Amino acid sequence: KSGNKDVLYKLHTDAAAFYHRMLLDSPEGAEARRYMEERDLPEEIIKAFQIGFAPNEWEGLLARALKKGYEPKQLEAAGLVVPSERDGKTSHYDRFRNRVMFPICDQMGRVIGFSGRIMNKAEKGAKYVNSPETLLFKKNRVLFAFDKARKAIVESRQAIVVEGQIDAIRCHQAGLDNVVASQGTALTENHARMLKRYADEVILVLDSDAAGLKAALGSSEIFIANELSVRVVTLPEGEDPDSLIKNSGKEALIKLVGEAQSALDFLIDAFQKQEDMSTEAGRMRVVRAVINLINHCPSAARRDPMIHSAADRLNISPLALSQDLHRAKSQQR
Ligand code: ATP
Ligand code: MN
Ligand code: MN
Ligand code: MN
Repeated sequence: KSGNKDVLYKLHTDAAAFYHRMLLDSPEGAEARRYMEERDLPEEIIKAFQIGFAPNEWEGLLARALKKGYEPKQLEAAGLVVPSERDGKTSHYDRFRNRVMFPICDQMGRVIGFSGRIMNKAEKGAKYVNSPETLLFKKNRVLFAFDKARKAIVESRQAIVVEGQIDAIRCHQAGLDNVVASQGTALTENHARMLKRYADEVILVLDSDAAGLKAALGSSEIFIANELSVRVVTLPEGEDPDSLIKNSGKEALIKLVGEAQSALDFLIDAFQKQEDMSTEAGRMRVVRAVINLINHCPSAARRDPMIHSAADRLNISPLALSQDLHRAKSQQR
């Protein structure tokens, strides 16, 4: 059956092996190998993460998979090919063409999807194309490199979350093994529960752009609601973990991680920058944001130091702040 999970696992394993071989030694893979060199991703990393290359063909993977006995419907269920209707007939073509392929694995290290990067800026199409939601691939349950990071997360009780798969790969290459990537999607309740099983603390290292800021604030709420401590690293303008390590070395990132702010301080800084603190309305918007964050925390023992530290920074009494926290909570109901 096309919906059979075992077949889909097998298909992903075979597809990953095919793409990987194409990158390692096919003539068609020459440009991709050059791209990997430019990105500073050496063969040992290509092998460790089983990075691949999808050839620039409409039926590159499709033809090989059919030869191996797979059916078009199975490839479609895996999200690896796309159906197209013409003259009442359905045909299929490869979803991933002329892209560097990053296999996405589940917690046990089984390949369940792919993210494919375009190599040439001039080419049209999205920078990354990802597998669609399938029976195996649920993007709100997947963290890139989680399978490789789990042991280090358990040992350090700390998980570092970055945005991009290349960021995670670069961190692992630099010996920061407790790093996973959200792959640009919003972090969810499921992600928080996954991390909570192994970590006490999450450190968010997000790109220093508007999207990264928004993601940091949203993710903080979810992690705090799941009783994880959250700290946030602000990267220098225009840098992501990959570029920072490349330009300034891993020590630069390790230093920033060590200096990471609490989610609360990060939020207060971010809001104070965008509000006029000389007006009461401006100050109250900051207070409301603080209250919203603290009220996501289910434990009073965890809330208490947050209240004291926030009250201190906002120049109000902890008593006034906790009264407003209670009021906000009761108004929600
Ligand atoms: P690179 O260094 O190759 O440019 P990046 O990881 O720095 O990639 P960002 O633009 O910072 O890319 O985006 C972070 C992550 O968000 C990407 O790694 C990818 O997982 C995801 N992403 C980015 N652009 C897209 C897109 N157009 N479609 C789907 N996912 C995307
Ligand atoms: Mn970004
Ligand atoms: Mn990048
Ligand atoms: Mn980036």
